[in-house]
Parts: sequence; C-alpha cells; structure tokens
Amino acid sequence: MTVLPSGVKLWAIGREGSWYKVTLCQALDGWIGASNIRELDAGVTLDTARLTDMSVSAQDDVTRVLFYLTDRVPFRIRQSVFPAQLKVDLFRCAAAQEAIHQFPGTVAVRPLPPQQLASDWAEITLDLTNAHQTGYRAYFSSSGHLIVDIKGPFASASVAGKRVAIDPGHGGPDSGAVGPTGLCEKDANLAISMALRQELLSAGAEVFMTRERDVAVGPGGSRGAELEARVAASKAAKADLFISVHNNAVGSGNAAKAYGTETYYWTPMSYLPAVTIQEAVVAALGTRDRFVGWQRFYVMRETDCPRVLVECAFVSNPQEEQKLRAPLFLHQASRGIFEGIRAYFAAAVQPPSVTPAVPQIELLPTPLVGPKG
Ligand SMILES: [Zn+2]
Repeated sequence: MTVLPSGVKLWAIGREGSWYKVTLCQALDGWIGASNIRELDAGVTLDTARLTDMSVSAQDDVTRVLFYLTDRVPFRIRQSVFPAQLKVDLFRCAAAQEAIHQFPGTVAVRPLPPQQLASDWAEITLDLTNAHQTGYRAYFSSSGHLIVDIKGPFASASVAGKRVAIDPGHGGPDSGAVGPTGLCEKDANLAISMALRQELLSAGAEVFMTRERDVAVGPGGSRGAELEARVAASKAAKADLFISVHNNAVGSGNAAKAYGTETYYWTPMSYLPAVTIQEAVVAALGTRDRFVGWQRFYVMRETDCPRVLVECAFVSNPQEEQKLRAPLFLHQASRGIFEGIRAYFAAAVQPPSVTPAVPQIELLPTPLVGPKG
C-alpha cells in the first residue's frame, strides 16, 4: 500500500505469524512485517492527529511541501501523470489548518485545500505544473512534521550531465537464472551493464553502479537484505534515472516458447522511460516485443526518480541463451538501453514553464449567502 519512514505510529489490531495487521484509518487496514516494527508500551493511546498548517517553499533543487502535524501519522502518496498531481493521504489525521503559506518561486507546486474524506483521513492534492515528474521524497523532519520534497523538471534534453544509476541484477552467490547450457544470468546482466556504463559516460552522463564485479551488494543473508542494500545505494546516488538490468527465465517446460524482451515499471512517472527503453531494446536486438509491465518489484517502489527494470532476453530459452553468450549481442543490448534512456531524457524535458492562468476573483464586502439568505 505504501512505504513508511521510521517513527510512524500505527494501531495494531491483530497478528498472523510474522505479520501485524494495522489500521491506517477506520476505512483502511494494512499489513506490516513484524521485523519492521517495535511494539509500544501498553497503555499508549493514539489520538487523531491534526494538520495545523501547510507551507510550500523553494529549497536548493526541490520544492518543499511541509505538513505541520501533531504526530507522526501513517501516510500514502498517490502519483498521477494525467493530470500531473500528487495526492497525499494523511491517515489518523484531521485537517484543522487555517492557511496554506506559498512562498516565492514555488509556482510548480500548488496545494489544494485539504479534503476530509473521513473523520480520520485527510487528503491533500498537490497540482504540479511540470508535465513530466522526475521524483519526490517524503520523510519526517526531526520535529515530526511531514516533508515532501518534489524535484523539478530536467534542465536539458541531453544525456550529458544526467545521473544514471545502473543495477546489474544478481551477483556473487546469487547467479540469477541459469540457462540450459549453464549460462548464468548475473554474468550477462553485468556485461550489458558495464557496456551501458561506458555508453553513458561517453555521452557525458554521471554513472553510479550498484556493483561492478561478480559480488553481492549487501552484507549477505536474505534476498530482501540484498535488494534493500541495492535500493539504499541507488538512493544515495541521487540519480535522475534508475535502471535494473536483468535477463528472464521460465520453467524448463516452457523454455522453448518464452523468448523476447520485457520492461517493468511501478510508479506512474516510470512509465515513460519503460516504454522508450522497451522500444529501443527490441529495435536494437530484434527480439520479440513481449510487453511493458506494471509490477511492484522491490527496487522499483522508491519514488526518488523514475525506476525501470529491463529483461533483455530469456536465459532459459535455448536460442536466446546462445545469443546472450555473444559479446556483440550483449553490446547491442547495452546500445538499445542507452538509446531508450536518450529517448526518455529527450521526451521528458519540456519548454520553460508557463505561469498558469489564475482566475480573477473579486472580493465581496459581505459574506456570500445562498439563495435562501
Ligand atoms: Zn533477474
């Protein structure tokens, strides 16, 4: 349902195995892994918190929306691309604010007045004037207020100057899929990723790699810990685009039938690069255009930048496994991803923002009254 920062207080209403059932508000329940929570002392009460004020201010490279809250409440942010909006749900929260303070230089983000969807559920819509969203980050300040930092549009259409994070899937003890003649997915992923890195560097981009050798990224242990380490490393890179490079597999019964290219995204802003990368990889490799998929992979849930996962070809398919052994094919795959990235940055840039028309409102000397007085 949502990714919560630490420090949020939740009501637990049940437990099954290693999962707690929690309430976000009276209308919405959710589940959270027991390893991610700490039980508060019995007797702690959680009252409905209040949203007392909101401000929008220009920071270094983001527009900051600050929600002044009386407690660290659970929240959810829903992104929309058409229209360009972020809808912020504040749960266990009632809007009691008197004003919205919009400071200079923040025309790109316009908060609408809070809507109280239920007694303990306030929704605030942020209208965005930039057609292409490039990422946002939500977290609590040290004083417990919710901050949503929204990144601005790209400054140019070029790959030059962009920061790209590349995540070669699997590595070290995790071989990924293994082909019928023993090709390990992790090796193909790394070869494609290293060639992609070179393409991007040559075009003037800054590149961050989660791994550059045949190693695990995390400290070892569970698959979840490994993926968490990749997410943490890629977030620290402050990338404009994150791409996880994989190759696909199915069970041996379907190995001959399944072949081709797939690209996945999760956040709505990631749809555009998923499409441009899918198209360019298929064009470069001549593979079957299977689909662009919406799926909640671990490394793609973060909202700091558009995040895409590409499955170039099927390691499990005998023909495609042989292709993935050929250096030329691996290079063409990297070339395809690079062209897709280039097409994305070109499409995502937009002309200088136009100040939207503001309806002229005449203030009346007396309060408005209805037809019946
Ligand atoms: Zn994989």
